[in-house]
Amino acid sequence: DRDVVSPQADLDDRAVEGALRPRRLADFVGQERVREQLSLVLHSAQRRGRAPDHVLMSGPPGLGKTTLAMIIAAELGMPLRITSGPAIERSGDLAAVLSTLHEGEVLFLDEIHRMARPAEEMLYVAMEDYRVDVVVGKGPGATAIPLEIAPFTLVGATTRAGLLPAPLRDRFGFVAHMDFYRPEELERIVHRSAGLLGAELDGDAAAEIAGRSRGTPRIANRLLRRVRDYAEVRADGRLTLATARAALELYEVDEQGLDRLDRAVLHALLRRFRGGPVGLSTLAVSVGEEPETVEVVAEPFLVRSGFVARTPRGRVATPEAWRHMGLEPPPDAAF
Ligand code: ADP
Repeated sequence: DRDVVSPQADLDDRAVEGALRPRRLADFVGQERVREQLSLVLHSAQRRGRAPDHVLMSGPPGLGKTTLAMIIAAELGMPLRITSGPAIERSGDLAAVLSTLHEGEVLFLDEIHRMARPAEEMLYVAMEDYRVDVVVGKGPGATAIPLEIAPFTLVGATTRAGLLPAPLRDRFGFVAHMDFYRPEELERIVHRSAGLLGAELDGDAAAEIAGRSRGTPRIANRLLRRVRDYAEVRADGRLTLATARAALELYEVDEQGLDRLDRAVLHALLRRFRGGPVGLSTLAVSVGEEPETVEVVAEPFLVRSGFVARTPRGRVATPEAWRHMGLEPPPDAAF
């Protein structure tokens, strides 16, 4: 069951995440800098009585981008409209959303880097001039009819800011870089969630869950629920350190938060490619995954935990990786 440490939301997550989401900026744990910057952007806009600058949030999945978009709307006292890059296949899809926005509304565009190209151009103009050019007719007779739209605030989210074309990136007045959470922040999140779920959670159990959550609130909340299930079925319902450990072992999440895919990637890198360097797609193929899955899901955490290094010639295992997997590095290892 590899999904237990996936930063992507599954159906089960979607069902409970609404209840666990902090609603106001003050309840949002961690991301100190982003929170402070955002609070300034929002308050100054409110003082001027204008829609705030468009906000781009970049960072890995599960760190609270959707939550922050909801908070931005709540802090502004405005409704939130939600759509995503993959849902916008044609510029007409975007025109339909933009032309029905109300003044001051917040538009959350998740996975903005996956939007269709022609829609991107329409978005530039909308962001800058609050205008949409609707094309009527086809071929040489086609004409663009400018349509004024209500001033709105775009909140874009992307896991890969580098994939955004510069003209789009430049039209955001504020870019929030979301980073992985520290263990003590995750502990606070887990305690808060346990309270909302009505679970009795011991301090050392919270620390154990936080330590295996890969710096990601979504994963922390999910591990918490797995531990709660285990405690309810196999123990007296109380989330103790012992139940936390037993549950996490059952779900194959190790002390460092590595799951089966991570260990498979490390294993391939170490055994098959003698520690590298090896290209990401070759590595992905050897564990039977899409390169994007390895790049977005497994690699950032492996790099961040100091197990894998990115080099111009490919991915390389570090001495810690050999140690963690209980293997001896060959004398000619590439680090
Ligand atoms: P993203 O949009 O970046 O994938 P979400 O905003 O959907 O992430 O957050 C995933 C889950 O993690 C939500 O249930 C949310 O409650 C929780 N979460 C994220 N960030 C925080 C935070 N700073 N404090 C408390 N809970 C958080």
